[in-house]
Amino acid sequence: MIGPFTFENLPCRVVFGSGTLGAARSEIERLGGTRALVLTTPQQEAEGARLGADLGPLYAGIFPGATMHTPVEVTDRALAAMKACGADCVVALGGGSTTGLGKALALRTGVNQLCIPTTYAGSEMTPILGETRDGLKTTVRDDAVLPETVIYDVDLTLSLPVALTVTSGINAIAHAVEALYARERNPVISLMAEEAIRALAHALPAIVDKPDDRGARSQALYGAWLCGVCLGTVGMALHHKLCHTLGGTFDLPHAETHTIVLPHALAYNAAEVPDAMARISRAIGATDAAGGLYDLARRLNAKLALRDIGMPADGIEKAADLAVTNAYWNPRPLERSAIRDLIARAWSGEPPVVTKTAA
Ligand code: NAD
Repeated sequence: MIGPFTFENLPCRVVFGSGTLGAARSEIERLGGTRALVLTTPQQEAEGARLGADLGPLYAGIFPGATMHTPVEVTDRALAAMKACGADCVVALGGGSTTGLGKALALRTGVNQLCIPTTYAGSEMTPILGETRDGLKTTVRDDAVLPETVIYDVDLTLSLPVALTVTSGINAIAHAVEALYARERNPVISLMAEEAIRALAHALPAIVDKPDDRGARSQALYGAWLCGVCLGTVGMALHHKLCHTLGGTFDLPHAETHTIVLPHALAYNAAEVPDAMARISRAIGATDAAGGLYDLARRLNAKLALRDIGMPADGIEKAADLAVTNAYWNPRPLERSAIRDLIARAWSGEPPVVTKTAA
């Protein structure tokens, strides 16, 4: 039986292809923008400045200070830069950190955003903003932060370092995996999720072999777009909550944490979500979805252990406590001891183990 479900399409214009960065000027004009502030990280300032030059009279200036986890002090500085140059729209060129800054500015000023993602994080497709104040990260969901227009240009992803490509790609797969068993799951998002996992699981090994393989890069970016739609449309569960907790508590890198935790979180939920497991297995071409995702990460030379990305051994108990402290929806009830064991396995890099709720 199909349903019941509710499906809500988020409004966003997408321009996808190779060389599509060239459409930035006309897309800003389409949004009614006359003075655009370009946002980048310090590492991507040169690309931002080049884009600025292409924008001609629409270019108001650049703010190259985007930072991971969107600290409010950085947003305040960007706001001052916006005022100083009289910007009436923002162009975020970069990964999730830069997209986050654009969203924070839109939340405060209502300006339109043109977003040009250069990683696979997917934030550009979501009405979600995570901000950090005094070291504490809070998340808001507000339609005002959803970018109006997104340009995906595969050419911009050719320079994404292979290691970041792998973890960013698996971070994206995690959005689609949890969308398949989300409380708000629906047939349209499930189609997108399975297709997204298939595209990324096939593209990533090809990119590791040949980082400038434009066909594979295009598949990966397409998959990442779909994963972003999944993340923006339905709610997430244990995996995302765990990564949020681990990242915030131990200051772990975002995409690498997702890459390590995903097979373990999926194994925890496996027995409750057979349809999702079947779809993921089919998409990655494996008999077991959780084991298959672990093997994929290993084949792609990703780190497999939380201890290798800076999590201390004595953090396992603390993380288990935190993971069950704030109740949230998950297909399997939150059981501290099984969650503690999965975190311990992820900490040491062991393969995932499917466990079941004690009868
Ligand atoms: P990032 O944006 O921090 O980028 C990592 C580094 O890679 C930066 O130095 C960046 O300049 C560089 N980089 C990006 N693209 C490049 C390219 N093509 N070539 C060379 N270098 C490049 O990392 P991320 O993983 O994209 O984003 C992580 C952040 O996004 C986190 O803060 C996370 O919380 C947030 N996020 C938010 C959402 C949401 O819906 N709100 C979704 C996903 C991620």
